[in-house]
Amino acid sequence: MLEELDAPLAPLTTLRLGGPARRLVTAHTDDEVIAAVRAADAAGEPLLVIGGGSNLVIGDAGFPGTVLRIATTGFALDGTALELAAGEVWAEAVARTVDAGLAGIEFLAGIPGSAGATPVQNVGAYGQEVARTVTEVVAYDRRTGGTVTLGNEACAFSYRHSRFKAEPDRYVVLRVRFALEDAAGRSTPVRYAEVAKHFGVAQDERVGLREAHDAVLALRAGKGMVLDPADHDTWSAGSFFTNPVLSAEQYAAFLAVAAGRELTAPAYPAPDGCTKTSAAWLIDKAGFGKGYGSGPATLSTKHTLALTNRGAASTEDLLALAREIRDGVRAAFGVELVNEPVMVGVTL
Ligand SMILES: Cc1cc2nc3c(=O)[nH]c(=O)nc-3n(C[C@H](O)[C@H](O)[C@H](O)COP(=O)(O)OP(=O)(O)OC[C@H]3O[C@@H](n4cnc5c(N)ncnc54)[C@H](O)[C@@H]3O)c2cc1C
Repeated sequence: MLEELDAPLAPLTTLRLGGPARRLVTAHTDDEVIAAVRAADAAGEPLLVIGGGSNLVIGDAGFPGTVLRIATTGFALDGTALELAAGEVWAEAVARTVDAGLAGIEFLAGIPGSAGATPVQNVGAYGQEVARTVTEVVAYDRRTGGTVTLGNEACAFSYRHSRFKAEPDRYVVLRVRFALEDAAGRSTPVRYAEVAKHFGVAQDERVGLREAHDAVLALRAGKGMVLDPADHDTWSAGSFFTNPVLSAEQYAAFLAVAAGRELTAPAYPAPDGCTKTSAAWLIDKAGFGKGYGSGPATLSTKHTLALTNRGAASTEDLLALAREIRDGVRAAFGVELVNEPVMVGVTL
């Protein structure tokens, strides 16, 4: 277990933002993870668990406690059952399942960060989300001081949400288990219109597994959604806002505002009679186009949903831009945007 004091956190995040940690611990085994969590909890020390730092906005003041970096490794395939240690690099694990000819997470190619974080916000993209394939999550429960195995239902997955996000200071994910599918070299059914169009197939058809993986990587790269240290458009936390899910009443009000501006907004059915619309569309139509901003933090030149550090930004610069966009969308459409990345020591 590696320990550093007053350790810079910015290099551990994809935004390259945030002040130092009072103490940074890097754990390479589950036992080290548990020991570090127990020690912090016993000392009454604030604890921040991090994986790849790709969904974090850390304040300029840093973190006044222990930051535990999960660097465990483990990729185990047994037939179509996959178990990943929390510290495994997600995108590499996805590529390995495709090499093994197994479908289920191929459309989640190129998403940065660790396997252990994927159940936290129910990572999703291009018509897949981990809620569909996760069978069990093994976690350390800080409330009971023991290890628990939570089945898929107990994880309470919903759009970019889960039990782990609902109870942020309770569970430290150690292992994630998935049920994949041997579809004879084919992908799971295509559920995303852009992917269907790319392959010239109808939705719900299957395409080649490797082709699916590689196509998603190419589509993502075109939007600056695959990490590239040389490209400031990827110095982001991915999508900064979740797609708003509107109640029937909210949606009716929104439609009226959009119609008044002669606009037709994207709309997708969501659970409980709700409608999901597009945060990227709202941002664009509220007047914040690609590349918006003149300071050290701007919108990506490739995607309106990614707020980026052009190299010299502070967290406050990024948050000022985020607030301007959130307030602008509210003023234009009456819709409240909510941040997707986890805020540490700061609020929007
Ligand atoms: C360019 C880019 C593109 C992205 N595209 C997508 C996308 O398409 N879809 C999507 O859903 N997300 C996307 N993201 C967001 C991000 O990659 C995912 O949320 C990812 O799962 C975060 O993993 P991480 O290890 O970096 O988590 P971190 O940023 O380190 O942590 C995020 C949160 O998870 C918690 N956490 C991390 N590990 C554990 C653990 N083992 N146990 C308990 N809690 C833990 C942290 O405490 C924190 O609250 C993107 C990000 C970037 C930068």
